[in-house]
Order: sequence, then C-alpha cells, then structure tokens
Amino acid sequence: MAGAGRLDLDGSPIRPMTICMIGAGGFIGSHLCEKLMAETPHTVLAVDVYSDKIKHLLDPPTAAEGQQARHSWDGRIQFHRLNIKHDSRLEGLIKMSDLTINLAAICTPADYNTRPLDTIYSNFIDALPVVRYCSENNKRLIHFSTCEVYGKTIGSFLPKDHPLRKEPDFYVLKEDASPCIFGAIEKQRWSYACAKQLIERLIYAEGAENGLEFTIVRPFNWIGPRMDFIPGIDGPSEGVPRVLACFSNNLLRREPLKLVDGGQSQRTFVYIKDAIEAVLLMIENPGRANGHIFNVGNPNNEVTVKQLAEIMTQVYSKVSGEPPLEVATIDVSSKEFYGEGYDDSDKRIPDMTIINKQLGWNPKTSLWDLLDSTLTYQHRTYAEAIKRAMAKPVAS
Ligand code: NAD
Ligand code: UDP
Repeated sequence: MAGAGRLDLDGSPIRPMTICMIGAGGFIGSHLCEKLMAETPHTVLAVDVYSDKIKHLLDPPTAAEGQQARHSWDGRIQFHRLNIKHDSRLEGLIKMSDLTINLAAICTPADYNTRPLDTIYSNFIDALPVVRYCSENNKRLIHFSTCEVYGKTIGSFLPKDHPLRKEPDFYVLKEDASPCIFGAIEKQRWSYACAKQLIERLIYAEGAENGLEFTIVRPFNWIGPRMDFIPGIDGPSEGVPRVLACFSNNLLRREPLKLVDGGQSQRTFVYIKDAIEAVLLMIENPGRANGHIFNVGNPNNEVTVKQLAEIMTQVYSKVSGEPPLEVATIDVSSKEFYGEGYDDSDKRIPDMTIINKQLGWNPKTSLWDLLDSTLTYQHRTYAEAIKRAMAKPVAS
C-alpha cells in the first residue's frame, strides 16, 4: 500500500485516515488528491460540483494499461458530486471522516467586485455548516483562508520614497502580529478578504470556546498546472481567471499580456507542488499543526506583476520555440479590466517563522523553474486547441 510504514515528524507511525476534502475538484484539491493517492495510505471522500481535474484519479485504468491493471489508489478515492450550499449528505461525510479539509470557495479576483454577494456567501455563509459539523462531531478541520486577509501593507500608506517602506516591519506579513488592512466598503474587492477573515475568527472562537481542533492555511499565490481555465477552451470566453491563466492565455494566443494599472503590484509565487508538501505535513502532524494559522508561500520568489509578465514571456518562448512578440505587454486600467470597485494588494511577503518552527517546511522551487514546468504543461495541454479555436471563422 502507498506510504505504508511512514513516520510523522516526531517519529511515530502515521495511521491511515479518511479525509473529507471539500473543493477537491479544484486547482489545489486536485494536487492534494494526487499527492495523497501516490504517497500515502489515506482515503479521500472528494466533494465538489466538478470532477474534471481529478478525472485521472477516478477513472478505471485504460484498456492500454490492461484489463487486470489496478491503480495503486483503487478504492481510496470516492467522488461525491454535491453543492455544499444545500446538501444534507455533507454532515454524514464529515462524520465518516477523521479530518475535513475545506477548499471550496469563489476565489478569483474578477468575481470579488462583480459578484460580491456570491463571494461573501461562498467564503463565509457556506463554510459555516462545515465548521459547525466539525465542532459538533469533534472532527479536525483544516480550513483554507487566504493571504489576502492581510490586505494592504502598513508601508503602502507611507509616501513613495519614505525610508520606512524598506523596513521589513512595514511589509512582511506575520500570522500573529500583522494587522488586516482593507479598503473602503465600496472597494468590493475586499469582500472576499473580509469574509475569509470572519470565518477565520469564527473557527478560532470555536477552538477557544468549544475545543475545535483546527488549522488555518493562508496561501500566498500558489501556482502551477491545472490552475483555473483558459478562456474559450476549458472555461467561458469572457471569463477572467487569475494572473497565471490570464498571461498563459495571452501567450498561447500570441497577444500582449495585459498589465493592470501598469503591473506595479508585487507578489511572491510558490510552486503548487512545494505548497502541497506543507499541507501534507499539516495533515500528518496534527499535534504540531492544530491551533495554528500558517502562511504558506515563497518569500524568495517576489516580483512585480510586470516582471512576472516579462519572465513568463521569456520562458514561454523557450518552451514553445516561438519568438516573443515585439510588443509583449500593454497597460490597462483596473476599471477597464475588472470594473468598478476593484482595488489591489500592494505587496505580499509571507513571514515563515511559524511554519518553519512547527513543521520544518521550506519552499524549494525558484520562480524560473516553476514557470518552466508550468508553461511546458500549458503549451502541451492547450497549444493545439487554441490553434484550432483561432482557425475557426468568427460567426458574424
Ligand atoms: P479553485 O477554484 O480551483 O477550487 C475551489 C473548488 O471548490 C472548485 O473546484 C469549486 O467547484 C469548489 N466549490 C466551490 N463552491 C462549492 C460548493 N458550494 N460546493 C461544492 N464545491 C464547491 O480554487 P483553489 O485555487 O484550488 O483554492 C482553494 C482554496 O484556497 C480556496 O478557499 C481559496 O480561497 C484558497 N486560496 C487559494 C490561493 C491560491 O493561490 N490558489 C490563494 C489564496 C487562497
Ligand atoms: N493582473 C494583471 N493582468 C492580468 C491578470 C491579473 O496585471 O491579466 C494582476 C492583478 O491586478 C493583480 C495580480 O495580477 O495585481 C495578481 O492577480 P491574481 O488574479 O492572480 O490574484 P491576486 O494575487 O490579486 O489575489
């Protein structure tokens, strides 16, 4: 059996467990399911409304693999197609499990200011029963929050060339010390962050008052294969995914990458496979992970969005063999790109002290290497489909 005889960080054997994973069919969920199936003996009850990204784990072996062939994970992953907004089966699945991981959310910035109600419901209201069922049934919960709960940095309120902007205390984001700073209510971009913050506070309070065993994860721009969709290929033509998929789509279609408000915001990007290692450590080391909030990111991979566009252009040219466009980027205003009510996080550097101390985790992959493997995947998966779509005559 995969992963039999494995030990936790304190040298104790890891007992096989059943995990109810809500949002298992999404980007992070699909990588986590793969990891759990390939390297551990755990069972996953995978809950989502979609299953395309985990189809390869759910389908029986192909004819080419032979009639007698079995996946090493056969019988350890079950898909439950359900919407947690309104499905009475959810509590039963949580009761059957040792651990619940909640990944379900609306989490694309293009939705925050255009679908603020859905965003608040999805990130707060819909998560409430999950927290309640875990608390009432004494089940452990790993809940996915976001780095966006920090909002803007303190330094961003100083004049542009103020020397204190260079002081780490003014921008490094610490789980137990940094304030959460959001814009005005009409900047509905922050509805997502605010809903996530309130569910974090509720989970924390369930821990404090009712003994809920919880871990909260704050992802800092995890990126890699299967993130979001390519508009017009495996998602709506007019849809706006997160930046990796937006830029991939531009590169695949040989059109300039759009820099929102000049692309001056800064982000740190972590490779999904590094980040999943951190989640596995949380799953298998409850004594070290319970009661904690963890930043999970790569402070060494910081770039402006403009620099990200430049690096992606170079890497894509290498993996596709096509020369870069002469004009590789264009500026667009955030109002034009996202609509009224958009705002942005200026800079996101995770402090790594807590995850380092509790789980000994460090990210490994450089930005160049993670973009190399991700854009190789994008090119292999989408280049032909894009060519076919672009060759089709446009209906008049
Ligand atoms: P994703 O959109 O790829 O995955 C979310 C999944 O949840 C989707 O498959 C969706 O169908 C499912 N889902 C949503 N509502 C549901 C419902 N009502 N019932 C059943 N399933 C539902 O997003 P992701 O990038 O995998 O993110 C997962 C979690 O991590 C989210 O909570 C997100 O806020 C958080 N997060 C991710 C990042 C990142 O870098 N990827 C950054 C910050 C926070
Ligand atoms: N962005 C951009 N062009 C795009 C898509 C996004 O300049 O085509 C910018 C966006 O304004 C933000 C950053 O890229 O500053 C990261 O956006 P993403 O959607 O990945 O999510 P965020 O990190 O803001 O949560």
